[in-house]
Amino acid sequence: MPTRRKFLHSSAAGLAGLAVTPLAPLAAGARPGPPAAGRPLVISTWDAGLNANRGAWKILGPGGYALDAVEAGVMVTEAEQSCCVGLGANPDRDGIVTLDACIMDDKYGCGSVAALERIKHPISVARRVMERTPHVLLVGPGAQQFAVAQGFSLEEQKLSPDAEKAYREWLKTSQYRPVINVENSGARPPGPAGGASNHDTIAMLALDAQGRLSGSCTTSGMGFKMRGRVGDSPIIGAGLFVDPEVGAAAATGQGEDVIRMAGAHTVVELMRQGRSPQAACQEAVARVAKIKGPQARDIQVAFIAVSRRGQVGAYALQKGFSYALSTSDAPRLISSEYFLK
Ligand code: ASP
Repeated sequence: MPTRRKFLHSSAAGLAGLAVTPLAPLAAGARPGPPAAGRPLVISTWDAGLNANRGAWKILGPGGYALDAVEAGVMVTEAEQSCCVGLGANPDRDGIVTLDACIMDDKYGCGSVAALERIKHPISVARRVMERTPHVLLVGPGAQQFAVAQGFSLEEQKLSPDAEKAYREWLKTSQYRPVINVENSGARPPGPAGGASNHDTIAMLALDAQGRLSGSCTTSGMGFKMRGRVGDSPIIGAGLFVDPEVGAAAATGQGEDVIRMAGAHTVVELMRQGRSPQAACQEAVARVAKIKGPQARDIQVAFIAVSRRGQVGAYALQKGFSYALSTSDAPRLISSEYFLK
């Protein structure tokens, strides 16, 4: 009997040479043509995407790799003091900040971490999971142990002043009531889920000058969530999916409702069937609305997407979602179209 360690070792080595079953052909009329070589772009969620895109453009602009760009871009947001991303974010209901992140490259490589504590850049740990382990997802103490073994430092377990204030306020009622669009600093209400600083839960998709697609997603999840709750953001196919033959998509908003319809993967599959990124995002949002019925009014879900040819799209369930788009070093903030009028 092979030991587990040997099995992991040999399965990792074996995977490298595995013949991949051919994917279903694209629908007639949906032939994507060559990738968009020469025209880099980056798109990311909410207004924190403006700074994040600037970070990504430092790599994309001079012709760098999309994977490096989507890591560096969202690291900008992780390092900012925010309600929704990184160690400064709102904690779970036990007062502890737990972070989720994932990353995908242009070769179906993927890595993610969930419920990670005391690590400043979960996205970089997710990349190490992708590049240095035979696995896709590490969680909780195991993810932290791996991060430390990889040289990431363990930060102090301490709430930021904004998060401390928000948590104390929340404890007065201990009601779990996520506030829609809280990620958008302009729409952020005062009170428990708010905070003065300008930062968001972030998902990012990039196409580089060589036509390579990559994506990343990083968040603290919903503020005051149950301990152990994991949302869509670190789940490949829910919060993020990149298919180099078709395009890439990412989600933000109520993670439970993105997971139940395999959000990002659904958007990419709709693109494979011939929809534009915009039409694919719209159809996926309509599906969320149908599943939720009247409860759709209580949540926000939004998708962003990029085709391998460099078309972009975005669509939200509710008013209030914005995204940042860069095709040069000057990012633009765009208000998304939405479903519930
Ligand atoms: N999707 C994230 C989660 O459910 C939160 C968000 O994007 O607002 O954890």
